Amino acid sequence: MLSNMVLTINTFSCCSTSPLSQIYFASFFFTHQLVQTMSMTATPPAVRSYLTPGRPTSKFMTRARMAVRSNLLSFAPILINLQRDCATPLPVLRHVADAMAADMRAGLAVDGRSDLKMILSYVDDLPTGNEKGLFYALDLGGTNFRVLRVQLGGKEERVVATEFDQVSIPQELMFGTSEALFDFIASGLAKFAQKEGGKFHLPHGRTREIGFTFSFPVKQTSIDSGILIKWTKGFAVSGTAGKDVVSCLNEAMQRLGTDMRVSALVNDTVGTLAGARYWDDDVMVAVILGTGTNACYVERVDSIPKLQEQKSVSGRTIVNTEWGGFSNGLPLSEFDRQMDADSINPGEQIFEKTISGMYLGEIVRRVLVKMAEVADLFGEHASAKLSTPFILGTPHISAMQQDSSKNLEAVGSILYDVVGVDSNVNARKIVWEVCDTIAKRGGRLAGAGIVGILEKMEEDSKGVIYGKRTVVAMDGGLYEHYPHYRKYLQDAVTELLGSQLSKNIVIEHSKDGSGIGAALLAATNSKYEH
Ligand code: ADP
Ligand code: MG
Repeated sequence: MLSNMVLTINTFSCCSTSPLSQIYFASFFFTHQLVQTMSMTATPPAVRSYLTPGRPTSKFMTRARMAVRSNLLSFAPILINLQRDCATPLPVLRHVADAMAADMRAGLAVDGRSDLKMILSYVDDLPTGNEKGLFYALDLGGTNFRVLRVQLGGKEERVVATEFDQVSIPQELMFGTSEALFDFIASGLAKFAQKEGGKFHLPHGRTREIGFTFSFPVKQTSIDSGILIKWTKGFAVSGTAGKDVVSCLNEAMQRLGTDMRVSALVNDTVGTLAGARYWDDDVMVAVILGTGTNACYVERVDSIPKLQEQKSVSGRTIVNTEWGGFSNGLPLSEFDRQMDADSINPGEQIFEKTISGMYLGEIVRRVLVKMAEVADLFGEHASAKLSTPFILGTPHISAMQQDSSKNLEAVGSILYDVVGVDSNVNARKIVWEVCDTIAKRGGRLAGAGIVGILEKMEEDSKGVIYGKRTVVAMDGGLYEHYPHYRKYLQDAVTELLGSQLSKNIVIEHSKDGSGIGAALLAATNSKYEH
């Protein structure tokens, strides 16, 4: 009898989402929205007998109940505090949008005075559609590098043919030397160029021209040179910071004897803007939401005090905001602060760490670790896997959120496969809530950032944005593959601008626009005549 009871009690105390705990949980958080998502299941007879008034309560049982309660007391507040710390009501969004606009101005006034570097791209002329010939693009973005060739046929034929290839970057190269990384890239590019044929024609005697998309902060010094300021997104390659990345690539190609040259160094946001503008003249802003995040937009040169020589014929130039560095007034939790402190760049890229693909899964993992440790969310057995940083990726949390089955089976199998934990349906609901909290904050803050850019453009030139169709070109794996995130982003834009103004703001996925965009910028900046 005693051993039976001990067994039963242990089952209760180790599992915070047992029926007994549900009852406690529901009464404790009756007013909280969580109750809406936690379905109450009928209390099974075995449990009911524990709750029957008048049944003798042993010391053992009292202790067990206290254990359950203390688990719950420590467990549920974790979620509630998280939701409070990550909340993005309209005033927070408005603050973020206004602060983004103010930081943009500060960064345009003088270098080094703002979280936003507001880097000049040297791209003053966007593609017109008249570009012709064979051009290459190389995209070094984070997780992968991509190579692409495009045969452009001018206004009539437009894009005649494209081919691309993708290579993932070995982990060790992300922490190795600059030479090793650029040799790897140059050799991937050379192999790809060797397979050229079919519809792709390079006029005799010409060197292949490349638009090099390099999605890390670079101080651009001309259209085909730029100094790496620092690596981000988990890269810690030695010997590149402070160097011209085009020279690094050219030198690697020389070492390999490859006859190719970089005609345009472009940030991926700039490539996306150029690629989208090729098809649609209303594109004014481009945003990347992938491993990292960034945004660029079309700026008037007379709105850039730090620009000394205003050589742009068009009177406009693309400015790369590097908005990942934004930090003013962001709603952050203890988990964000710990992740930042443990990162290779503490105190930097806070906006990026809050909204981009590299980090969302990791924030969720950190919350789950605390819930597992403090409150046995997944039972009493700890999982070593769950303690592994970055093991839970943003693709996983997006897949979990897309599980709409009653028992959240997909959530259960992802938790089991990826972080090695067993979960009951209520634990899965909590996990779903955590994913939703982090994705919602990310999407809504990204939306507020976009409104900040539009606001700044409109303040400088009344009517340039509002009241006419304006397209924001979006790209990146996070935006492409996470529907909830996309919806939260759009919601924030609509809330901030109101339904009338937001009707004219088209937030549009421009898939892989940056690759073609970079090739197009190689064409507009070609050393040969068109
Ligand atoms: P990069 O930013 O490295 O150039 P991508 O734009 O392809 O590459 O974005 C890759 C990132 O997108 C991944 O690091 C991941 O964070 C995110 N991602 C990829 N697939 C998904 C998915 N299914 N759901 C949510 N996010 C995803
Ligand atoms: Mg990319």
